[in-house]
Amino acid sequence: MSVLEMNHIKKSFDGNEILKDISFKVDEGDVISIIGPSGSGKSTLLRCATFLETIDDGELSYLGEQVVGSQDGKAVYGEKAKIKKAMECFGLVFQNFNLFPHYSVLKNIIDAPIRVQKRKKEEVISEARELLKKMGLEGREDAYPCQLSGGQQQRVSIARALALKPKILFFDEPTSALDPELTIEILKVIKELAKEKMTMVIVTHEMDFAKNVSSKMIFMDKGLIVEETTPEEMFNSTNKRTMEFLGKYK
Ligand code: ADP
Ligand code: MG
Repeated sequence: MSVLEMNHIKKSFDGNEILKDISFKVDEGDVISIIGPSGSGKSTLLRCATFLETIDDGELSYLGEQVVGSQDGKAVYGEKAKIKKAMECFGLVFQNFNLFPHYSVLKNIIDAPIRVQKRKKEEVISEARELLKKMGLEGREDAYPCQLSGGQQQRVSIARALALKPKILFFDEPTSALDPELTIEILKVIKELAKEKMTMVIVTHEMDFAKNVSSKMIFMDKGLIVEETTPEEMFNSTNKRTMEFLGKYK
């Protein structure tokens, strides 16, 4: 069973079709990197998959349960409870960390598991401490985001996403706001998660990392998936557009 399946997804903004018939699926243990030029619709795709944007048309399923269906060329969203269930399947890590500035590190991590998932406070706190340890942030639980480096903030936001025990983690350019040294730090954490068989979809411009970590790569351009293949084949692609794009990183 696929963790996520998207079929024929379409999304326009102000009459511009930003996603044009996108289909892909993510199986358990997959690490899928999405690459492509700026403006190609990568973030919009993740935002549609995570209910931050509504889909105009197409189908969306989590764990084999359809949450969005297509009827007469229009997306039809399932009932609230269904969407809520789907939303519990994933975690999301953004480019700019998106931590709550007025919450401590610990509170950032435990808030949703306690408030949204209604889990026991003691248990959540103890798991959060474990996660902080794993992220190399032991002892920083009382710090506020502004007291941390960008790399540390991003590790907190990864811990926050993991605290929800997601079946799939989405990353949208998790290192774009970081300098090279801190970038390596974050990529290491993601590689570690890949080793643990965490299912992930990662939008990234870090080509070496994508090559190393991905089970599959997707190249998007102008709202379309141009190629979807193994990293090896992607980097040996003979597709003109793929070659043009990857050429910039060589
Ligand atoms: P990428 O992440 O690949 O750089 P995006 O998905 O962010 O691309 O954006 C694709 C296109 O959609 C861009 O032209 C962007 O301006 C447009 N876009 C994204 N979000 C919105 C929005 N909320 N309103 C209007 N246009 C948007
Ligand atoms: Mg983007």
